[in-house]
Amino acid sequence: MKLFGSSGIRGLANVEVTVDMALKLGMALGRSKKTAVIGRDPRVAGEMIEHAIISGLMSAGCDVVRVGLVTTPTLAYATRNYDCGVMVTASHNPAQDVGIKLWNPDGMAFDSIQQEEIESTIENEDFVNVAWNKIGELSSYENAVRDHIDMICSHSTGAPIKVIVDCGGGAGGTITPFLLREMGCEVITLNSQLDGHFPARNPEPKDSNLGILKKAMTAFEADLGIAHDGDADRMMAVDERGVFVSGDEMLAIFARYECKDNSKVVVPVDTSMIVDDALPSSTIIHTRVGDVYVAEEMKKQKADFGGEPSGSWIFPRISYCPDGIYAAALLVDIVKEKKLSALREELPQYPTLRTTLACDNPRKDGVMKVISSKLGAMGEVSSIDGIRIDMGDGWVLVRPSGTEAKIRITAEARKNVEELHAKVESIVKECIQ
Ligand code: MG
Repeated sequence: MKLFGSSGIRGLANVEVTVDMALKLGMALGRSKKTAVIGRDPRVAGEMIEHAIISGLMSAGCDVVRVGLVTTPTLAYATRNYDCGVMVTASHNPAQDVGIKLWNPDGMAFDSIQQEEIESTIENEDFVNVAWNKIGELSSYENAVRDHIDMICSHSTGAPIKVIVDCGGGAGGTITPFLLREMGCEVITLNSQLDGHFPARNPEPKDSNLGILKKAMTAFEADLGIAHDGDADRMMAVDERGVFVSGDEMLAIFARYECKDNSKVVVPVDTSMIVDDALPSSTIIHTRVGDVYVAEEMKKQKADFGGEPSGSWIFPRISYCPDGIYAAALLVDIVKEKKLSALREELPQYPTLRTTLACDNPRKDGVMKVISSKLGAMGEVSSIDGIRIDMGDGWVLVRPSGTEAKIRITAEARKNVEELHAKVESIVKECIQ
């Protein structure tokens, strides 16, 4: 039985993610763990799912500590003191969804082996109901947010700049505005009252969802705009002119600040060449798309920095969990030296083209094999995730969608990207027919 996707368990509340599933997950997890810490974002179904997991854990003899309504990076940081962490969140998904993500003490999400163990325990109903006097104990810990703020403040100096923080109604409202005020910033909050219906905007912090933040930047003459997703592991930014900073630009700006000569940076295969060009003396390592894969590779390579253009930034000095709150604090330190618009303008801009072609799911594997053989002659081939061809002056990624009956084509080039994209698209079309 497959419960976990690439970002933990996620789905429609009470239909795909149910109390029954949460209870069994707790019972399975409690089999191998003596202690667990649990938190949740403000989703409507969050508390219901949390209670079910707690009951399952305790029935297996695991002691549980509740930290309440927190961000995912706060929960991941709190996990350092326990055998495992459980976060009830659906991240940037729409309001009707809920989900569960499991954490190790070093801030790494459960890997595929750990997930498969839980899945097989549930499938075989291999649960343990301990004796009445061995049932786990439940307690609360009130200072998880305080601990997280203190940790971040020990790495950041802060600055008296004006920052607008848009938490989108998500869990970021429990921490980021308070942290930035402690760092000496003048903070204006947008959508920072927690609300699991996400009435103000879609929780995903992408350009098209941040119209109000962009307008507010010039209206309030702010220096920096920060936006989080529902559980604030992600952070994106808007510059002082109200321009959204793209994920690739953000990745390059953080990487430049974090990396010295001969550093290692881990990014997914669909990351722009601006990152390679901004860091000529660093090694750029590509992984599959997904922040979990970036974190796993960073640990293996002992990398200095890693991230995903969707807004996940991983700083191994603090944790392998993407931390949107620490990223916001670090960006304050960066922006106090130089305006965000100036940092953007230092980066090259290369045109990127993205399209999708329909392809039935059962045919995808076969079609991808044919595509691979046809594109192979164009340049250096990598098959980490889909097929990526590097040509020095550009690259193309042909990747089957994990969830939809589609094949995606991305092309980026220093010049003539249309030509490159059209050539690859016609080859892919031929292979699908
Ligand atoms: Mg998230």
